[in-house]
Amino acid sequence: MTTVALKDVTKVFPDGTVAVDNINLDVNDGEFMVLLGPSGCGKSTVLRMVAGLEDPSSGAVLLDGELANDLPPRDRGIAMVFQDFALYPHMTVGDNIAFPLRLSGVEPGRRSERVTDVASALGIGDVLARKPNQLSGGQRQRVAMGRAIVRRPGLFLMDEPLSNLDSGLRAELRAEISGLVRELGVSTIYVTHDQAEALTMADRVAIMRKGVLQDVGTPTQVYGRPATLYVAAFLGSPRMNLLEASVYVHLDRYIALNLGEQSLYLPWDDIRSRAVARYHGERIVVGMRAEALTPVAPDAAGDVLQGRIRYLEHHGHESLAFLDIGATAIVVDELSGALSGPSAGGGRLRRFGRVMQRITGRGQDAAGGPPEERPGSSRISVLNDPGRHHRRPAELAVRLAPYPAVSAGHPLAISVRMDALHFFDERGDRIDVGWR
Ligand code: ATP
Repeated sequence: MTTVALKDVTKVFPDGTVAVDNINLDVNDGEFMVLLGPSGCGKSTVLRMVAGLEDPSSGAVLLDGELANDLPPRDRGIAMVFQDFALYPHMTVGDNIAFPLRLSGVEPGRRSERVTDVASALGIGDVLARKPNQLSGGQRQRVAMGRAIVRRPGLFLMDEPLSNLDSGLRAELRAEISGLVRELGVSTIYVTHDQAEALTMADRVAIMRKGVLQDVGTPTQVYGRPATLYVAAFLGSPRMNLLEASVYVHLDRYIALNLGEQSLYLPWDDIRSRAVARYHGERIVVGMRAEALTPVAPDAAGDVLQGRIRYLEHHGHESLAFLDIGATAIVVDELSGALSGPSAGGGRLRRFGRVMQRITGRGQDAAGGPPEERPGSSRISVLNDPGRHHRRPAELAVRLAPYPAVSAGHPLAISVRMDALHFFDERGDRIDVGWR
């Protein structure tokens, strides 16, 4: 099956919009690659360049190792499935699926054999004689998939194919599509802004922001070891708690991470201490996911933070407590709409609504203006540039059992798993501590 390589690919539209900014990405034979990012980050433009529907402004698109920049779309061995798939309304389901085969001159007997196979694989074998308006949304999407699969392409390109469907159907089709594509062994690039889709379907995920590739890896890698603050904040529900901390090194003993009114202590023999020690006297961002935090008795020893519950969110299977611990949160911009599932959109973000902070972009800023850069720096500081961002009091998301016997205003002590902390520098890059 087809392999794809993007080498230094940039797309600048005639109006000056930098939609894709110097991307390098490989899709291996048979791999399911998900392009993930918020609306407008350039995902569809990447897909359209791979399809040949858009020319790169610079850089190379290689298919099976061959330069394909000038190859017409029809010669790329590609099948595409879009969000707004259009079926021919006057044709039956069977004829819709068979259409690409008819165009390429496959003889009728062979055609109907292939259509029957594909339709039964997709669970729509019993509706082949119906017209599209006699189908449910999920069935119509399956027909669109069938029409793409039937040609046995070397590469599938799928652009938010499930976003018009309700959440139950999405989950069902998610599993079906990834199962089917893997069975067929066809290399796939799948575009979505839904992190749940990305993490459940992908072999590897490529996360984009403002045309720039932020991180690429397996779902476990990008979730467990995000390369940037942006990726850390983008993946996970509830979102990762991101706290401003000042670093103070007590040589050969420990590193104090001062979080405002309280501190955590990284033992000197922790392998990450050497990397964090370089920031002595400076501010960094400490990331902690809800799964790194466990409620404990108020007088518990160890790595414990004391907080007070600001408010609770009940999600049926669990409740989330949001704790005031006297720390400052760093809030990452542009994430609304990026999450699905419980706490989608981040309760706090929805409530307080606004934005906040620009980090690490080399493309346009969120308002569509030119990039603002500090002298001598190619990135924008997340911590030391007061004109560029807002901080707010941190509210640490902590998981509790459903409907706990506590309410807003209650004190709560939480134990912190120090080995599950993430560290980011003032530009939003991971403070690299090597593989552990
Ligand atoms: P969505 O999830 O909303 O589809 P996306 O991540 O796929 O977003 P793109 O459609 O690739 O994003 O668009 C990337 C950027 O390029 C956006 O700022 C968009 O407005 C801009 N853009 C897309 N097509 C054009 C065009 N033909 N001319 C000018 N700008 C464009």
